[in-house]
Amino acid sequence: MGQPFTFPLSAEDLAIIKTLEAKYDSEENCSGLAAPQIGFSKQAIVFALDADEELKKWRPDISDTMPKTIWLNPHYEPVGDDKHIDYEACFSVGDSAGPVARYKTIRYQAYLVDGTKVDGVAHGFLARIIQHEIDHVHGILYTSYVPEGQLLPLDEYRRMRKEAMEKGQSSS
Ligand SMILES: [Zn+2]
Repeated sequence: MGQPFTFPLSAEDLAIIKTLEAKYDSEENCSGLAAPQIGFSKQAIVFALDADEELKKWRPDISDTMPKTIWLNPHYEPVGDDKHIDYEACFSVGDSAGPVARYKTIRYQAYLVDGTKVDGVAHGFLARIIQHEIDHVHGILYTSYVPEGQLLPLDEYRRMRKEAMEKGQSSS
């Protein structure tokens, strides 16, 4: 469970955020990263979502996008009860992927590094990324939502997904 930040941020806090961002930047295929994943028990996340054509093939529910964003003390709540099941993987879980039901629409609140409060609504795959990353801040891994026996090796998941795409099917 990460600790919340207080503003203005201390030099130590800023150093943690800088380390988190650098680690995120150095990872390939990483949609997001949270401070507890790299050993800091603090409520910070970094993530981005581009409207990348290749990614859209894998994630047909991309609607909203977001440039690289760092949020502190982030929080989300569902808007409605609708959920969408899709596969997730995680830097902290190694070479696995599994299906997770996430809210399709969420309302979020967070603080930027300069202390500005932000809030808004996110849909689709962006909402999924935000839920996944904010859960990390609370010590929750996606694997806790994966039904018993449905966690797959990452390469098996990729093969399955590629086959489904080639048949022109959506994952939902
Ligand atoms: Zn993760």
